[in-house]
Amino acid sequence: MADVKTRYAFFEGRIVPIEEARVSIMTHAFNYGTGVFGGLRGYWNPDEAQLFVFRPQDHFRRFIQSASLLRIQVPYTVDELIAILNELLRMEGWRENCYIRPLAYKSTEIIGVRLHDLDDQVAIFSLPFGRYIENEEGAHVGFSAWRRVDDNAIPARGKIVGAYANSALIKTDAVLAGYDEAIVLNEDGHVSEMSAANLFIVRGGVAITPPVNANVLEGIVRRSLMQLLQDDLGVPVVERDVDRTELYLADEAFMCGTGVQVAAITRVEHRPLGDGRIGPITKRLRDLFFDVVSGRVPKYRHWLTPVYAPTSEAAG
Ligand code: PMP
Repeated sequence: MADVKTRYAFFEGRIVPIEEARVSIMTHAFNYGTGVFGGLRGYWNPDEAQLFVFRPQDHFRRFIQSASLLRIQVPYTVDELIAILNELLRMEGWRENCYIRPLAYKSTEIIGVRLHDLDDQVAIFSLPFGRYIENEEGAHVGFSAWRRVDDNAIPARGKIVGAYANSALIKTDAVLAGYDEAIVLNEDGHVSEMSAANLFIVRGGVAITPPVNANVLEGIVRRSLMQLLQDDLGVPVVERDVDRTELYLADEAFMCGTGVQVAAITRVEHRPLGDGRIGPITKRLRDLFFDVVSGRVPKYRHWLTPVYAPTSEAAG
């Protein structure tokens, strides 16, 4: 069985074969959703024989903040989490794009809904990962009949496990209705985001995205794209409330996030946007984003953390 690759996870303080990284059905987080998570990507660059993790400092900073919302103590600094991740990824040895999932959760095996007087654990695993939605160049989206979780119910700015029941309802009902994804509105009727991605529209050459107080996750790709749009593509970016009908009238729209990367929305509830194909700003942004994450833009190399030691025979 020499060709069966051992897979690993960081679990209860050390890296173990992934089969050993298991929790009990009595685990608090499994019963009550009292966990938080992150989602990062590693991008394989074959020319440099290098795996680049995209903005791990920002991801782990947000991870620790999400945890603090649920009174989960992450016993590692951002730099320590990056070191643990690098060690895990070197053991996994990916030579392809991968997805990384850190988790922090209430680990006590106990009945009782609360956040206090419980133990915390941190875990990390990774897996090969390509596309997240089928149609990255022409998604058809609808408006969800569900509303986004509110900051005063379950804060969307934290990646809280239990809150993703809201995302799952949004996603599955969208797919069952024949859409690729759905836009979800806040209780006040303004646009929030997608089930697991942020949203931008383009109107009159301006990129517009809902503000961070619109019950959105403070997306790291969102923030990166705002910079690329303004500094590199010369497209002004405005953060403001977005009305539902602006989606029908937008010249372009796209969703973004670690999973979905940059995916064009070309139809909203059966109405084509623009000429019904990926728009010019979305296309340029998407191309630039993929160059940035794979290490082909020197100006943004500082967003990437290499996992492997550089080799002299890089192309091998
Ligand atoms: N919103 C939600 C609800 C998400 O789950 C995600 C994915 N993490 C995003 C937005 C995008 O965030 P990021 O760019 O940090 O991946």
